[in-house]
Amino acid sequence: MTTIRTRIAPSPTGFLHLGTARTALYCWAFAQHHKALGADAQFILRIEDTDEARSTEEAVVQIIEAMDWLEMKYDEGPFYQMKRMARYREVIAQMVANGTAYYCYTQPAELDAMREAQKARGEKPRYDGRWRPEAGKTLPQPPAGIRPVVRFKNPQGGDVVWEDMVKGQISISNDELDDLIIARPVSEEGAKTGETVGTPTYNFCVVVDDWDMRMTHVIRGDDHVNNTPRQINILRALGAPLPVYGHVPMILGPDGEKLSKRHGAVSVTQYRDEGYLVEAMINYLARLGWSHGDDELFTREQLTSWFDGKHLSRSPAQWDGAKLKWVNQHYMKLADDQRLSKLVTEQLTKRSITPDERLPAICALFKDRCETTQVLADWASAFYSTPQRNEADYTQHVTEAVKPAVAVLAAKLQNCEWNKAALANAVKETLTETGLKMPQLAMPVRVLLMGKAQTPSLDAVLELCGQKLSLERLAY
Ligand code: GLU
Repeated sequence: MTTIRTRIAPSPTGFLHLGTARTALYCWAFAQHHKALGADAQFILRIEDTDEARSTEEAVVQIIEAMDWLEMKYDEGPFYQMKRMARYREVIAQMVANGTAYYCYTQPAELDAMREAQKARGEKPRYDGRWRPEAGKTLPQPPAGIRPVVRFKNPQGGDVVWEDMVKGQISISNDELDDLIIARPVSEEGAKTGETVGTPTYNFCVVVDDWDMRMTHVIRGDDHVNNTPRQINILRALGAPLPVYGHVPMILGPDGEKLSKRHGAVSVTQYRDEGYLVEAMINYLARLGWSHGDDELFTREQLTSWFDGKHLSRSPAQWDGAKLKWVNQHYMKLADDQRLSKLVTEQLTKRSITPDERLPAICALFKDRCETTQVLADWASAFYSTPQRNEADYTQHVTEAVKPAVAVLAAKLQNCEWNKAALANAVKETLTETGLKMPQLAMPVRVLLMGKAQTPSLDAVLELCGQKLSLERLAY
């Protein structure tokens, strides 16, 4: 049976941002796609928290919350790199023992001098391999009192070549690659207790994890493409199987710059808070950098059935907030009213408004005209608190001249049965009695009830407002 294992490996140095969410979606969808085809497929969450100074618990919580919101269920994890330090050190020790890694005692000042000299000779600055063991080479005596780093003995000559799922064949010459530091010097504390391997470095942890976690496909942002040849070399030195790599181009803001806070929300959960539906977010993110023919709107099920890792765009995607809104509006129309009602309640709670049993019907009536649940909550709040008045609409429609006609309608509503048909009839009778045309009466009444002239049909709005509130608002 085919085995497919993918992972998302966010660093908890900030919230799960849109780029990582999209990569996670691709990894998740790829695994789901193969699962549905009968493969043994898993998607894994790994928290890359080795940057202790910048990683926070709060970010971890938000990452997990975002994954939950996006309903990207992981089959394993979350795994935390900080909990795997002993394992990385164990592998480094093995590599030192078998000669695929070595201790390097070069001090920062020496490295600086080395680089300066190289630059002066017009060469590219790089570690010159002075502590690299070679057959027939005599190494210097390790200087006393210096705690060494561990370097990977990168192969010399030849190229690292891989077939990238997104970018096609990539080839990097080994001569471009330094002997990478894979462990920092042992700390003073560690030295006292006889430790021989310091803190492992980022690229190394990733390699051991991808190996131990048996990754078959590493799909990630193309900001990692430079790490890949190094990681491949280390995997080879470990005798580990190589995953297939896919490097997804980044997401740019509308101005063509890397997407950042300047462009608005960059964390996915902020979109949830601003009233976007999860199915819209999934649809939009998936389409941003991947395509299936001309399809713009598709379900999660369609995505997983189509997502075979092909048709990923090679060029950067551009964030388009207006398109996301359009996608969201599409799903708002389709959304179940009870569900919308729950989401709108969350929005209303933030405004200290407690809705009642009318809310699902309010959602049903207004959802077609709303881009987000936040906008739907704006409408709903008009039923529970004084509506925000559109001054231009008010001045135009709520005139002295129309006052008597509104009073006629109000009088009829005093004794009206409270259902749409009866209310429509009361409006009709008012028109006959006053000689006004529908818009001449409906517009001011809408503005009085909802604060603006563009609303769903008057009878439906009156019905939901209820008798007491309608009469209060019509008495102006
Ligand atoms: N931790 C990396 C990031 O947040 C991902 C590394 C990887 O996928 O290999 O960008």
